[in-house]
Amino acid sequence: MSEARVALVTGASRGIGAAIAQKLAAEGYRVAGTATSEGGAAAITEALGEGHLGVVMDVRSEDSVAAALGAVEAALGTPVVVVNNAGITQDNLMLRMSAEQWASVIDTNTNGLYRVTKPLLRGMMKARFGRIINVSSVIARRGNAGQANYAASKGAVEGFTRALAQEVGSRGITVNAIAPGFIETEMTAALDEGVTEQLRSAIALGRFGGAEEVAALVAFLASEGAGYITGETIAINGGLYMN
Ligand code: NAP
Repeated sequence: MSEARVALVTGASRGIGAAIAQKLAAEGYRVAGTATSEGGAAAITEALGEGHLGVVMDVRSEDSVAAALGAVEAALGTPVVVVNNAGITQDNLMLRMSAEQWASVIDTNTNGLYRVTKPLLRGMMKARFGRIINVSSVIARRGNAGQANYAASKGAVEGFTRALAQEVGSRGITVNAIAPGFIETEMTAALDEGVTEQLRSAIALGRFGGAEEVAALVAFLASEGAGYITGETIAINGGLYMN
């Protein structure tokens, strides 16, 4: 890269997003990582070091997204890489799922994608370069009892990816999704031991993935070398589910 590109990673305070932010910083991007709290944002600034930024963003709020994007623009410049990673689960069987559990997962995982991506498109079009990388999940295709809200939210992420890829391809912007299987983070640490064992035995590679393995895939999709891949959802699940 002649001049360092600016990359925005949502949900970079921990787990997969933190690993992605670290990897992109190591690869020479100027990285903005988001957290939902001031403390989380400050910790990101500290962890990434000079030339990078931690910023508060709640993807459920258009105002919060606008304020964060303004701060990134002022400090680092226009992002041409965005990793839409922020996401939550609120598991329950459908019979017991509250409207609130349904709505909060859709609002964060799906509507958040709209709120963050739309305002970034103009800058990417102007640069005639862009990489939009959306974090889905193996659950979008495989399904999982107790996760109808989450599966719906991630299925939407994959459909969005295919549609937007067709809108912006002629401008040099690629749009892809990744669908991780079970990755060792706080999200999967919440699973009970019996479930974890059962899941592990269904994974061809016999283990959960590491966040740094997901980060390596994202770094590739962000690179020049991935310039002819768009509209795809790339599985990274250790052989848990083969499309
Ligand atoms: P995690 O450890 O629970 O971290 C979630 C991140 O999202 C945190 O940085 C959190 O910020 C942020 N976040 C939560 N709500 C937000 C909101 N309203 N606005 C902005 N940011 C918000 O999760 P993870 O396991 O790393 O998962 C990251 C992504 O990968 C998610 O999209 C998840 O669905 C997907 N995924 C994970 C797995 C897995 O096995 N872990 C598998 C497949 C897909 P705070 O720290 O400030 O709360």
